Amino acid sequence: MSTTAVRSPAEFEQQLQRYLYERSEEGRLVRVGEKEVSEQAAIVARYADLFSREQLQALRAEEESGGAEQREWLYRLRKTCESGLVAAELAEKEDELENALLAARVTFKGEELPLRSALAQLAVLPDYNDRDELGDLHRRASAEFNEQRLSLLREYDELEADLTDEPDPVARTEDEKQISLRDLEAVLRTTSEQIEATFLELRESWFERLLGPEREPQPSSAHMGYIRRLSPLDGTYTKDRATDVCLQTLSALGFDVAADRNIRLDLDDRPQKSPRACVIASDPPKVVHLITRAQGGLHDYQAFMHEAGHALHYAGCDPTLPYTFRRISRDHALTEIYSYICEAITREAGWHAQHFGLSDEAAATNAEATVFLEALLFRRYAAKLQFELGFWSSFENAGTTSDDYAEKLTAATGVRYLREGHLADMDAGFYSADYLRAWIRHAQLRAHLIDEVGDDWWRNAKTGEILRALFAEGTKPSSEEIAARLGYEPFDTTPLIAELTSA
Ligand SMILES: [Zn+2]
Repeated sequence: MSTTAVRSPAEFEQQLQRYLYERSEEGRLVRVGEKEVSEQAAIVARYADLFSREQLQALRAEEESGGAEQREWLYRLRKTCESGLVAAELAEKEDELENALLAARVTFKGEELPLRSALAQLAVLPDYNDRDELGDLHRRASAEFNEQRLSLLREYDELEADLTDEPDPVARTEDEKQISLRDLEAVLRTTSEQIEATFLELRESWFERLLGPEREPQPSSAHMGYIRRLSPLDGTYTKDRATDVCLQTLSALGFDVAADRNIRLDLDDRPQKSPRACVIASDPPKVVHLITRAQGGLHDYQAFMHEAGHALHYAGCDPTLPYTFRRISRDHALTEIYSYICEAITREAGWHAQHFGLSDEAAATNAEATVFLEALLFRRYAAKLQFELGFWSSFENAGTTSDDYAEKLTAATGVRYLREGHLADMDAGFYSADYLRAWIRHAQLRAHLIDEVGDDWWRNAKTGEILRALFAEGTKPSSEEIAARLGYEPFDTTPLIAELTSA
């Protein structure tokens, strides 16, 4: 334990900026496959004097005074100090798990594959049975880490309970997100039901088209990557055009991403590069990395547009804001609105017609496929939130398998999820709830843009102006504050239902 002097909030913030920069860059190098070993623990050790219980108390004490904005600033510094303390305890174990996952291999058709490559392969293998076989290998290899995953979760939970004096993980999250997770879950359950009839129809026709007539009644989740990629349409949505088309799409809104010096693009293919696209905002607005790994198929375009939304948000924040309001947020529900709204462009039939030389009819069909995907993913996440609420509400009973996970996700999607997949499918801190709030909010924002800009909002520079003003605010507002500005109640899912039943 360190016994260093306690810093003032401003000094703490300054040092935090350096610390988070180093951690982000280290995470990036491993994620993009430029570094084989994760060494987060070494960084955490170098900054050991930044995070202490004394510092935490000092920040908490300052929070008692000051106006609303000052209190919010201090709150976010305190929560970051808290997670720094947790990281200091657990970074080594995190690295251990990360490195074990990086080292794990499966043997498929006589070839050794890293787990991540296996996952990437699953999205592109054309043969149904091959996907089942590789999916099975991947699932088994991944499940071997469940004991380790669960023990890390337990340690996190204990530490956080201790640092916050709140033993209930659901209450802790609700306090941080300033919403009721159970109210959110109830609203989403109803929404899921309201789109069900349309979803089932779409699923019937698109499973037939994407997976073929020989598919099982409930295809396994090994096929999800393939479904998401809309692989049978990949002759239209080629790998080579993904970047150009997306850059053109953004330029119609008035965003020149290629020339944006704050945004660094990493589009290369490396064997250990994670197939999941992401943005790493190491030091916004100046250093924002946009990382994708194109594999072919519409998913490349959707992933690029999604991440571009995050990148533009972080790179577009007002540089005069305090660091905290450029980089740190209570959760991810705000920035996901901006990724979702950019990705939503790929569900406009007009976009498919304009960029891919399709007839209006073909464009409408392909846009329908994207609405189906969106409904599928939305229902998957709504079920995931239900499962996670149950999981964390009785965390003492959590195990290395979960029948509840398998039942809920399978029922919601019609895709077979297995009981040992729950731990690998869970992001920290109820991220699922952030995605779901963004689902609701981006639909509200889209409806607002149609009102303000028109049906061509997705290729109109006025949309860019409206978004730019929102991006400038950085990470400061909550998702619910944005709802109020758009004139909606936070949980009003009318626009979302309209979107998901529009095919
Ligand atoms: Zn995102």
